[in-house]
Formats: sequence, structure tokens, C-alpha cells
Amino acid sequence: LLPLGVLMAAFIVGLVIWVSRKRLSPLGELKLAVEKHEFIVHYQPIIALKSGVCIGAEALVRWQRPDGKMTRPDLFIPLAEESGLILPITDQVIAAVIRDLGEVLRTNRRLHIAINISAQDIKTGRVLDVVKHALVDTNILADQIWLEATERGFMDIDAARSTISRAREMGHAVAIDDFGTGYSSLSYLQGLPLDALKIDKSFIDTIGIDAATSNVTPYIIEMAKALKLQIVAEGVETQEQADYLLARDVDFGQGWLFSKALPTREFIAFYRDNSSR
Ligand code: C2E
Ligand code: CA
Ligand code: CA
Ligand code: CA
Repeated sequence: LLPLGVLMAAFIVGLVIWVSRKRLSPLGELKLAVEKHEFIVHYQPIIALKSGVCIGAEALVRWQRPDGKMTRPDLFIPLAEESGLILPITDQVIAAVIRDLGEVLRTNRRLHIAINISAQDIKTGRVLDVVKHALVDTNILADQIWLEATERGFMDIDAARSTISRAREMGHAVAIDDFGTGYSSLSYLQGLPLDALKIDKSFIDTIGIDAATSNVTPYIIEMAKALKLQIVAEGVETQEQADYLLARDVDFGQGWLFSKALPTREFIAFYRDNSSR
């Protein structure tokens, strides 16, 4: 009789936990994940196309649930941005980068890590204080941390200009992300003291496939050059794309041709193998 009672109790406890988890809204779940620090970071190598050397990586957040299940950022970043939870998530990403790669950053001054910054943070500049604070006593140089933000972050141009200027005074490089998918015009970009431009994957996808749309890609490259910006091509999957970009003097490439986003230890191994040639 006793084992049956224990079984029943265990079942009821399990049921209560299951029901209470199910009752959480997506926002409630995300809040809980922030409280419990359920975010980890993977690192996707960025390659200098001419030399093939790995010069750094982009930090890409993942939500790892207690059961090990991994959730892709595009499934929770929009909700995080809308709710403001993106701010504590960004803080956790910054802390993770320093925890994961502090040692490697100290011993490899040419290693750079690009962190994605939300529109809200570009507007207020709040994130700069977070990064500054996180770097205290780490002996990691500010110029080893790059910041990237999508065009949405630059809508309020005066606020964006002041945040970018401050970031650069601190030593960080700033890139415009997913370029070509928003509304930025040439004159608009000209007013921002940016360092780099990341060409969105959708433009890289057209290389060698669709003659009509691939016509746009060279213009984006020329525009970035006219603005004296460094160029990172994202989503490079084929050698043909890499050759095309190299022939047009694009500086950097990122994509599955080189590597997917890697967990910390694998990224460090990749970097060791590819940081000099
Ligand atoms: P993104 O900034 O454009 O990041 C590049 C995305 O493209 C990554 O997806 C990466 O894994 C994927 N990718 C890279 N190379 C290739 C390729 O060759 N082929 C294909 N098919 N895909 C490739 P991921 O990690 O799922 O990130 C999705 C988006 O989530 C990112 O797009 C970024 O906008 C956002 N995100 C990721 N981490 C953060 C973060 O820490 N903070 C913020 N605010 N947003 C983040
Ligand atoms: Ca990015
Ligand atoms: Ca993109
Ligand atoms: Ca991007």
C-alpha cells in the first residue's frame, strides 16, 4: 500500500509542476529564463578572406533550457526586444563572452568578438556602461570588443550618432548589421561614424544564382567602400560566393563555408588552428 501512496504523491507533484510550467506564457517563460541565467553563447568565426585567417567571432546567444533543449535566438529575440528583456539578456551575453573567452582574448590581441546590440541600447547607450564595467580588471582591450546593431537601431539618428561616437571613443568598433534589409540610404549612413557594414545573407545567397538580384550585391559593396567601411559578408556557404567576394576586395566572411557557430571550447580550438597562416 505504501509504495502505491508514494507513487500517487510523486504523480501528483509531477502533474502540478507540469501544469504550472504549461501555464506560463511565453513572456513568463522568458522572464524565468532570464532569472535563471539560461542563456549561453556560441561563437561563429569571422575570416579574413584574403589570408583565410580567423580574426574573431560573432557572439550568438542560445537559450538552453534545463532539459538541455536549445532554442534559436530568432524564436525569442523579438519577444525579448518587445518586452525589454533584451537588456538583461545582452548583459548576460557580455558576461558570458568575458567568462568564456577572457583568457584567449588576453593572450591573443588580434582576436575580436562582435556582440549584437539591441535598438534600444543603441538609442540610450546604456550598454556601453555595461561593457565598460564588465571589462574592468580583465585586461581585455576595448578594441577587442566590437558592437553590431541592425538598421532599426539607427532610426533615431542623433541618438545613434552619439552612442556610436562614445563607443568609438572607448575603443570599440561599431558595425551596421543585416545591411540592405532595412531602409538606410547612403546619405543617412554617411552621417554615422561607423567602422563596418555586414552585408545580409540574403544578398550573398544571390551570388551565382540570380543574375537580376545579384546585380544589387556589387553596389552594396561599392557603397561600403565609398563610405570607407570595412565589409563583412554574412552567410557565406559556397566557395563560389567566397571567390566572388574576394575578387571584389571584401575584407571578411562569415558563414557555414568556414564554420557554423561553435560552443566555446570548439571555437577556441578552431581559433588556435586558424589564427595564423
Ligand atoms: P544575425 O546577426 O544576422 O546572425 C547570423 C545568423 O545567421 C546566425 O543565426 C548564424 O548562425 C546564421 N548563419 C551564419 N552563417 C550562416 C550560413 O552560412 N548559412 C545559414 N543558413 N545561416 C548562417 P542565429 O545564431 O540563429 O541568430 C539569429 C539572429 O538572432 C541573429 O542574426 C541576430 O539578429 C539575433 N541574435 C543572436 N544573438 C543575439 C544577441 O546576443 N543579441 C541580440 N540582440 N540578437 C542576437
Ligand atoms: Ca549580428
Ligand atoms: Ca542576417
Ligand atoms: Ca547579421
